[in-house]
Amino acid sequence: METLAILGATGSIGQSTLSVVRQHPERFSVFALSANHNVRVMLKDCLEFAPRYAVMVDEHAAQQLKAELKHHNSATCVLSGSHALCDVAKEPEVTSVMAAIVGAAGLLSTLAAVQAGKRVLLANKEALVMSGELFIDAVHQYGAELLPIDSEHNAIFQCLPHELQQNPGRGSLSAAGVSKILLTGSGGPFRYTPISDLQAVTPAQAIDHPNWSMGPKISVDSATMMNKGLEYIEARWLFNAAPEQLQVLVHPQSVIHSMVQYSDGSVLAQLGQPDMMTPIAHALAYPARIASGVAPLDFCTLGDLSFMAPDMARYPCLQLAMDACASGQGATTALNAANEITVAAFLAGQLNFMGIAEVNDAVMQTLGAHSVNSIDEIIALDNQARTCASALIRTY
Ligand code: NAD
Ligand code: MG
Repeated sequence: METLAILGATGSIGQSTLSVVRQHPERFSVFALSANHNVRVMLKDCLEFAPRYAVMVDEHAAQQLKAELKHHNSATCVLSGSHALCDVAKEPEVTSVMAAIVGAAGLLSTLAAVQAGKRVLLANKEALVMSGELFIDAVHQYGAELLPIDSEHNAIFQCLPHELQQNPGRGSLSAAGVSKILLTGSGGPFRYTPISDLQAVTPAQAIDHPNWSMGPKISVDSATMMNKGLEYIEARWLFNAAPEQLQVLVHPQSVIHSMVQYSDGSVLAQLGQPDMMTPIAHALAYPARIASGVAPLDFCTLGDLSFMAPDMARYPCLQLAMDACASGQGATTALNAANEITVAAFLAGQLNFMGIAEVNDAVMQTLGAHSVNSIDEIIALDNQARTCASALIRTY
């Protein structure tokens, strides 16, 4: 029996995780659920899964949830504050932690799970983008197991030999005969929109992803392809990949979720429906295979699969992320933080779509050369980049 802590339970990944868990009550039990402030969804899930703990980061929401649970005679204990996220992730009874908080807000609890030597199911890519080397060092130091949830990285993981799967961030791709990782992305909802029209696209258009259903932040990141940029950095750390071993490909149908090219010319790919329940079920049960609830692919109705190189004029955020990856941890931290602020401003109607890349770029020019050597320095730089981005947006 695996005992789970699901951080970010009320989000898109959290809810897909519970959908898989619901199908296998003999295999998984839910020890803790966490959310920022969504009482309605948290209450429903606490009543269904009866976790020992429910963490609401927001104090007011925690009080509301406590009253509701009492009314329903629930035995679930409600905790509040962000430190409680780390506490439940470290609980001795927990075997696996689903790290599915969005953004830098997930960094410390994801690291707490690593430092407690858990099986960490990593959806929170921003944590790895910020803390890359320190994160991988901690995985090895504390004997944590790292399983990627991001569909591309989960696909790559499945296409890699066993010895690399067992050695996150430290194995040698070339010694294993891998010549290249091919990271695929759909290109988002604007891949055919004239570039001159991008200035005027709305948040509703940006979050209307053609293939995937996801939270608002990652949906905007998919439209700018910053998501692919963050994933490029994520792949660099997860698979110990050099720049020449990573290639981004636009694949509009999202049927192939990424590929690994070997030195003998073989290419291994993982295919499936664009539904996160597949990588979640893979990581939850690894190395076993369990039903996810996702329909099988029907190759007779699939249609054509196409591929193209990304156009960097259309996707300047992708280039920024690749450049940041080459510069180092300070640059990736500053870019990630700036992007959280610019995406939030875009969603709030305070910044136009192309402004996301422009402000991200300006923050990188100011702070991208900083070096960071500890989690405290990473958090300080993250804060500085947020302040810098907010100030730029006000004068924009
Ligand atoms: P979402 O916005 O749907 O959900 C985010 C979750 O995080 C919610 O439960 C929310 O309560 C919680 N949260 C938000 N701010 C918080 C804070 N300050 N403190 C504590 N908790 C907070 O996001 P999502 O789409 O589920 O994405 C979650 C993570 O998974 C992201 O890092 C994303 O990049 C990654 N991911 C998502 C998908 C997808 O299909 N949705 C695919 C691959 C990777
Ligand atoms: Mg992805």
